[in-house]
Amino acid sequence: MYWEKEIETISPEELKTLQQERLKLTLQRAAQTPFYRKLFAQAKIKPELIKTKEDLQFIPPTTKEDLRSGFPFGFLSVPLTEVVRLHSSSGTTGTPTVIYHTASDLARWSNQVARSLFTVGVRKNDIFQNMMSYGLFTGGLGMHYGAERLGAMTIPIGAGNSKRQIWFLKHFKSTVIHIIPSYALLLSNLIKSEGLDPKTDFNVNIILLGAEPHSEGTRKRVEQAFGAKAYNSYGLSEMNGPGVAFECGYQTGMHLWEDYYLVEIVNPKILTPCQPGELGEIILTTINREATPILRYRTKDLAFYYQEPCPCGRTHLRISRIQGRADDMFIFRGVNIFPNQIETVLMNIPEVGANYRIILSREDYRDIMRIEVEIKPELFAGELPKLERLRERITNELRAEILVTPQVVLVEPGTLPTQEGKAIRLIDKRKL
Ligand code: ADP
Ligand code: ZN
Repeated sequence: MYWEKEIETISPEELKTLQQERLKLTLQRAAQTPFYRKLFAQAKIKPELIKTKEDLQFIPPTTKEDLRSGFPFGFLSVPLTEVVRLHSSSGTTGTPTVIYHTASDLARWSNQVARSLFTVGVRKNDIFQNMMSYGLFTGGLGMHYGAERLGAMTIPIGAGNSKRQIWFLKHFKSTVIHIIPSYALLLSNLIKSEGLDPKTDFNVNIILLGAEPHSEGTRKRVEQAFGAKAYNSYGLSEMNGPGVAFECGYQTGMHLWEDYYLVEIVNPKILTPCQPGELGEIILTTINREATPILRYRTKDLAFYYQEPCPCGRTHLRISRIQGRADDMFIFRGVNIFPNQIETVLMNIPEVGANYRIILSREDYRDIMRIEVEIKPELFAGELPKLERLRERITNELRAEILVTPQVVLVEPGTLPTQEGKAIRLIDKRKL
């Protein structure tokens, strides 16, 4: 059973006590690491005086750059012989970051994922097809071990290779899939192009969407295509990976497991706490991890939290879906825009297909935004004036949201490039 009732419905007072005990241990562990030992000395912090979540404000936040500067062992708090695995970020942009895990860290992480899966109804008799890439990326292995812990038959198929995915879906009658949202849209189209209906020819009834920001519209499309429920799964490698926050059956916000993390949501500029409903940056402190304690990690992910208790009875903090990353925002002719605003508009237009991309360029000192949008195949059979009217409608709806006029280009399905991992939606040629 992975309904950890006592801990999932813990009272605020008990949670506070638990968090304080774990924070104390975490600070002791952090003091063993070269990075925090130096930080505590420089900032004249006595870790034994930091007792509550409120006291955390005396510790400067840790950034991705700090993690990089600590490469390779700056954040390690146990002897290397105790470490049984590491995960590392891709490192395509500079020095990689490394997170080490002891055996008990891995056991706790699996537990965290098993609990999350149980929350959305995954059970022992499910067949779980894990369409995330295995390896250093945490989405694959992280979810894998959680699903095994829960007892579901787990198929470690990994990312991509759509034909094989479809073959497995058909022959093993997978009931649960874990998939990147942009790929879920593409896969459902591919299934249809093979003459199959993802809704009736397969047995998928639970879809776990994770690893990249996506709108409510995208979720609805995925649900409709597969005739299944899709749940939002949030995680990041610095905080283990999947299992940090997960939706429950009510699908309004994700429960962020507060027996594992201390959560702050702050104004990203001045780091003051946000009110419920106010968008801010998520800052997380690990309190249930040995090998790599991280204090006040700036995730750059933007969300807000709900004040009202969740009808499911879980008391852990409920955060909204991730609205974007602080560093995703781009400035176009003086207007601040998040790619997610564009996605939200596009995915609510029924004629729009599965893929789109935004290309920013500069011509004669003037910024140009071109949005290439795949539209449903049947529309290309129609007359030109119809397409032109659709193009105008899409342009107008986008302008109403982002307040500038993009150049909208309608293209046939399957023409825009796709990625095996997270989708690349924004290409900013102004910086090149
Ligand atoms: P990398 O840093 O190499 O992209 P990570 O797995 O650590 O690999 O990426 C974590 C990031 O992915 C998060 O900080 C967040 O921006 C994004 N992410 C993960 N899950 C979700 C989700 N459900 N919704 C929105 N964004 C997500
Ligand atoms: Zn809930």
